[in-house]
Amino acid sequence: MNQNIMNQHIGKEDLLHALDREEFRLVYQPKLSLKTGRLIGAEALIRWEHPEHGMISPLSFIPAAEETGMILPIGEWVLQSACEQNKAWQEMGLAPMIMAVNLSACQLYQEDLAEKVQSILDTSRLAPEFLELEITESMTMNVDHVLPVLQKLKRIGVRISMDDFGTGYSSLYHLKEFPIDIVKIDRSFVQNCTIDSKDATIVKTIIAMAHQLKLEVNAEGVEFKDHLVFLQQNLCDEAQGYFFSKPIPPDELVASRVFRI
Ligand code: C2E
Ligand code: MG
Ligand code: MG
Ligand code: MG
Repeated sequence: MNQNIMNQHIGKEDLLHALDREEFRLVYQPKLSLKTGRLIGAEALIRWEHPEHGMISPLSFIPAAEETGMILPIGEWVLQSACEQNKAWQEMGLAPMIMAVNLSACQLYQEDLAEKVQSILDTSRLAPEFLELEITESMTMNVDHVLPVLQKLKRIGVRISMDDFGTGYSSLYHLKEFPIDIVKIDRSFVQNCTIDSKDATIVKTIIAMAHQLKLEVNAEGVEFKDHLVFLQQNLCDEAQGYFFSKPIPPDELVASRVFRI
């Protein structure tokens, strides 16, 4: 993916045009259960198919989208599209999967986020248990603002996961205060868990702690068989990563539904 755009200034106008011109795409990374070895869900990841620059990574434009406020309409488009896709898969007769969608902190600061999510579930006719919202910690996540929104989302019945766990600001505090269902161990810990004893200890300890707190654990960035074996031995619940599949367009995911460990 083209990263050169990072050096350019992306403004609100560019992002607004991209949304109006339908240049955003979603790709889906399969999530597998480590207990059954089956496909259990997918994470929706945004791409910008720029007419001149080609496919642009979210790492290059999400920060600009957050600064300009464009993350709000873009985030709504992602939620709506991902829910519609999940419903379409169900209607095709695939075993029901959980669709995970990344939320930016700006979205969590909208007091009516839960109402927006409810309305998207209604229009896409998706049951709430098939939607998971991934939140990433950031310094600006004020518990007093975010907690009531997360509580409303929980009442709707969607799942909430904490993404990139361990890399953020006051991870344990947020884990304690927020109604989290699942912890996603950051890729940076998973990457070296079989070669670095510190990473191994961190991964094992996150899994054990999450389980004692009655939470599920996802490991992201599983790239090798060794990673998978380590995670299975340590009773991690689910995993995603290049070892199974890169994020792929929806039709490819349908073809890979036979996908098993
Ligand atoms: P994330 O939510 O932590 O997503 C995981 C990232 O790791 C994805 O990068 C994915 O392609 C990549 N990845 C997955 N498996 C592997 C692996 O085995 N090895 C390696 N090296 N990488 C792997 P991507 O798609 O570039 O997304 C980057 C970040 O952009 C995401 O991190 C997320 O924070 C953000 N993002 C993506 N889509 C959205 C969106 O719709 N809304 C918001 N707010 N943020 C998004
Ligand atoms: Mg994520
Ligand atoms: Mg992550
Ligand atoms: Mg992230």
